[in-house]
This record gives sequence, structure tokens and C-alpha cells, in this order.
Amino acid sequence: MDRTWSEEHELLRRSLRDYVHERVTPNVLAWEAAGEVPRSLFTDLAALGVLGLRLSPQYGGGGQDFWFTVVLLEELMRCGSIGVPVSVMAHAEFATMLIDRYGSPALRETYVRGAAEGRLIGALGVSEPDAGSDVAALRTRAVRDGDHYVINGSKLYISNGTIADYITLAVRTGGAGSRGLSVIVVPADTPGLRRQRLRKLGTHASDTAELFFENCRVPASHLLGAENDGFGMIMSGFEGERLVLSVMACSHARLMFEQARDWGHQRRAFGQPLLGFQVWQHRLADVLTRIVAAEALTLRGIELHLQGRPAQSEISMAKLFATETARFAATECAQIQGGLGYMEECLMGRLHRDALAMTIGAGSSEIMREIIARSNHLVAQ
Ligand SMILES: Cc1cc2nc3c(=O)[nH]c(=O)nc-3n(C[C@H](O)[C@H](O)[C@H](O)COP(=O)(O)OP(=O)(O)OC[C@H]3O[C@@H](n4cnc5c(N)ncnc54)[C@H](O)[C@@H]3O)c2cc1C
Repeated sequence: MDRTWSEEHELLRRSLRDYVHERVTPNVLAWEAAGEVPRSLFTDLAALGVLGLRLSPQYGGGGQDFWFTVVLLEELMRCGSIGVPVSVMAHAEFATMLIDRYGSPALRETYVRGAAEGRLIGALGVSEPDAGSDVAALRTRAVRDGDHYVINGSKLYISNGTIADYITLAVRTGGAGSRGLSVIVVPADTPGLRRQRLRKLGTHASDTAELFFENCRVPASHLLGAENDGFGMIMSGFEGERLVLSVMACSHARLMFEQARDWGHQRRAFGQPLLGFQVWQHRLADVLTRIVAAEALTLRGIELHLQGRPAQSEISMAKLFATETARFAATECAQIQGGLGYMEECLMGRLHRDALAMTIGAGSSEIMREIIARSNHLVAQ
């Protein structure tokens, strides 16, 4: 992303680049085949001091701002397997930031420290079979019983679902609608919790699961904040999640563009390089233009977010435009590689395949448009 980076950011970038080049990229095909990243990825990143970049320093985190996460994401994305950063972000950003922000000191000591050290892996469980975009409709219920909550229900499409040691779980503790929701930390070894890995079209290195809760007893002390305050917590986490997706989408699109540009210079047809044909010069010019625009929107969203200013509209625009750009870039950049762009053995083929999920997770493109419309007086009264 085009901004002025400090010496500290550059140092982080260099150490990560070497690590990703030597220890991640050579392994991604094996991790994709296994359907998960190994635990050593988390302990390695913790040893490099980059796993809990935004978590509180008093619980082992880095206490850094979002720019360090941008560097981490951009470097992890270079491995060419989007499931790798998805798994790391689902753990450090999505599942653990909420515990750090709203959990008791005891919960933070256990889970935030464990997460920052890479000893424990987290997952965030919000989506359900009957409630995805409409978070306020979720049904998984937690009923207070003495010092515990008893949880029944299920969650769907949960990243890190089968490898996680704890799930930051959205549950219904009150009546219908957004005011009846809470968030509770569920240890993955809680009796009554069953996990089933799902088969996806792409992002194979990140495991995605369906979770079933049958009379799971979880200590009441695992509740984040106050009962029925969960909706605001979940929504507060979405800003960071959407920025993460925006940065990932920009990096993903850049990687595809670079692959396409190199191929366009190298591959010859009818006696000249493909980039000798004006049609390909123009198509890749369109791709690059959209990437630069997506990066600018993403930078704007991050800046507002860091200044603590209202940023919902800008972040939604960044998430919408960057993830749709990644899809557009995938189609264009795969096309210039011809048959190769459709092969999983080829990086472009895998990037093409993996571009699909980003317009869905952390709020779909349609939901982003809803937010933009509502934030900008576009809804007729
Ligand atoms: C790879 C992957 C990883 C994921 N990881 C996680 C995770 O870790 N934790 C988690 O909790 N969830 C996770 N999700 C779930 C994700 O957040 C949901 O898929 C997403 O919120 C959409 O919900 P849904 O699939 O139920 O679709 P639905 O909400 O049923 O929507 C279906 C379609 O209708 C559209 N739609 C919905 N409402 C409106 C509206 N008001 N106006 C117009 N169109 C609308 C949607 O945009 C979508 O196109 C993951 C999903 C994927 C694909």
C-alpha cells in the first residue's frame, strides 16, 4: 500500500518477508491439501512478535496500531494462499480482539496471553445456518444455570473452527432482536461441543467448520462485558474485520496483476508478446486503476478508524470496492493466462479461485451497500 512507512514498519516487513519466503510459501500446497495451517505457524509468528500485534501489551500483545497489521497482512499475502492470513486474522484479530476489549482480567490473562504467545488458537463464532448477514436473528441460546451458562445451537462457516482452542461465541441470552445478544468465550474441549469441517471452493489452508453445541456448560465468568450487550461488541469488531478484508483484497489483486503483467510480457502469440496487443494493455490498465482506487479507499478507511472518527461509511466503501476489485482482477488476470489461469497447479489459478470469498465474509457486498446507503441519506423515508 502506497504510504510512508516508518523504520519500525520496514524492519517488521523485512523480517516477515524472509520468514514468509523461507517458511510459509514452500509449504502452502501441503497446508492446502491438509485443509489447515499447522500450529507452528502461530508459535513462529508469536516468536517473531507479530501474532498479537494489536493486543494489549500487559497480556503479551504488541500494543501496536493497525499499520503494523497492514504490514503483516501484505507480507503474509505474498505466500499466495489466502487461507494463511485468513487463519491468522480469524485468531488474532477477529476472535481475540473482542476478549481483549471486553473480557475480565482473568479471561484476558488466559486467552489474550495464550493467543499472543501462539499457545492457544481462537475462532469467532457468529454466523448460523439461519442467521448470516442478519446477526440480530441468531438463535444459539445460552441460559444461565447457577455459575454457568448452558449453550444449545449451532454455528456455520467458522474459520479456524476445528483447530481452535476457544471460540468467541455470539449467543442469545435475552429476547428477540439485537438487544438479546451476548458474547461468551467457549473452550473447545467443553463437553457437548462437536465440530465438523466444511469443504470449500478455495482458501483451503484455512479450516472452516460447522459447530454444534448440545448442553455445553460454560462458566458465567466467560461472558464478555454485561449480559445482552453483545450486539454492540460484535458490530464494533466489524470495523477492524472489514479493514482486514480490504487490505487482503488489495494485496490479492496486486499479486494477480503482477502475475498477469509478467505473463503478458513473456507469453507470445501470433508473433508477439500478449502485451503487444492493445486489448491486453487496456484490460490490465483497467485492473491497475481499480487496484489503486481500492488502495486509496482502504487507506482513507484506516486513517479515519485510527483517528477514532466515524468511519462506517468509508470502511464499507473500502471493503466493497476492494473485494469487488479482487474479483474483477481475478477474472481479467486469469484470462490473460489462458488455460493456465484455470489450473490449480498454477499460482494464478489458485488466486483466481480464492478471490471469491472476500465479497461474502465480514459482511457481504450487499450489506456494505446497505450501510453506505443508510449512512448517506439514500434511503427514502
Ligand atoms: C470462507 C468463509 C469464512 C467465514 N468465516 C466466518 C467466521 O470465522 N465467523 C463467522 O461468524 N462467520 C464466518 N463466515 C460467514 C460469513 O460472515 C457469512 O457467510 C456472511 O455474513 C453472509 O451470511 P450468509 O452466508 O448466511 O448469507 P445470507 O445472509 O443468507 O445472504 C445471502 C445473500 O443475500 C444477500 N443479502 C442478505 N441481506 C440482504 C439485504 N438486506 N439486501 C440485499 N441482499 C441481502 C447477501 O449479501 C447474500 O448475497 C465465513 C464465510 C466464509 C465464506
